[in-house]
Amino acid sequence: MNLMNRFRDKQTVTLLLKKIEESAKPDKNYSIMEICGTHTVAISRWGLRGILPKNIRLISGPGCPVCVTSQGEIDLIFDLLDKEDVTVAVYGDLMRVPGTNGENLLYLRGKGKKILIINSVVELMKIADEKPEEDFVFVSIGFETTTPQTAFLIKESAKKGIKNISVLLFNKTMPEILNLLLEDENLAINGFIAPGHVSTVTGDELYYGIIRKNRAAVITGFEPVEILEGVMEIIKQVNTNIFYVGNCYKRVVSGRKNIKAYELINEVFESSDAVWRGIGLIKNSGLKIRAEYEDFDAMLKYNLKPYSHNERVGCKCGEVLKGYIKPMDCTLFGTYCTYENPYGPCMVSSEGTCAAYYLYGGVD
Ligand code: SF4
Repeated sequence: MNLMNRFRDKQTVTLLLKKIEESAKPDKNYSIMEICGTHTVAISRWGLRGILPKNIRLISGPGCPVCVTSQGEIDLIFDLLDKEDVTVAVYGDLMRVPGTNGENLLYLRGKGKKILIINSVVELMKIADEKPEEDFVFVSIGFETTTPQTAFLIKESAKKGIKNISVLLFNKTMPEILNLLLEDENLAINGFIAPGHVSTVTGDELYYGIIRKNRAAVITGFEPVEILEGVMEIIKQVNTNIFYVGNCYKRVVSGRKNIKAYELINEVFESSDAVWRGIGLIKNSGLKIRAEYEDFDAMLKYNLKPYSHNERVGCKCGEVLKGYIKPMDCTLFGTYCTYENPYGPCMVSSEGTCAAYYLYGGVD
């Protein structure tokens, strides 16, 4: 059996489900939040919500980087394109996110604005180096997994003397949002399915706050067997009241912090407050470029002023991201907001909760 088939094996899934059914106490409710957008999609894609016992609730959290990027941050990209003759470089998942005026980058590119979809920061450095007469602005979003790449872009560009790149830095950090979720009495979460990718950089350490508050935390992969193993592990911890950082993703995550990645992040960035879509300002949950590298800060270079962060009228992404409501509870879901014609970012992003429920269905 090849590796992927092993993690998708029907017999193993059936066995795990049986174990979960036997272990979950019928008089107890288990609320489990997956923090990572990739988990949200995997859970929906494999239909796992529908096959778990009714008293195990999988709640989707704020782990999709595009979705948590505030409306004000998105509007800044449009403002920049309006004011300056620059090429905006993005990863493809930002292309369809609408600004307050309803336009998106795909539409603006059709109108002749210079928007470049890149696959890596190395590719951007190469293009910028070859076109010194053109100015490039990289829109950086994401969590601990992708932040080192942006730090690398800035540090390497400085070292190589590439001066026609700057960065709109909208990256966010996980510890503060985790604290917020833990303290949220509306959610009463028993355990977290911890993001596999983020954990390759942060290690176990990121989740110590969770277990200190007597909740389970289990790092797991994205295949059905791995996710169900993670659920089983959380049930075990909740039932025994013994909490620790479980690791069901040992084939990728060692549990150790990636020191090199953190050294790079800390050299180029410092902690800063950040506004999360629908959640608002969270202290020290973002990053800013250190003074030593300020030549790469697009906010300073183009004298951009922060926007207000009002949501698009009627979009309930904030409530969805906090796990308060399911996408179907938004009146626009499936009518005015579809995957083909998205109104809010949770429907745009391939990792968005609304998109996952729309494409694969949800469970009430
Ligand atoms: Fe926003 Fe669309 Fe989701 Fe409603 S369905 S919360 S409008 S993204």
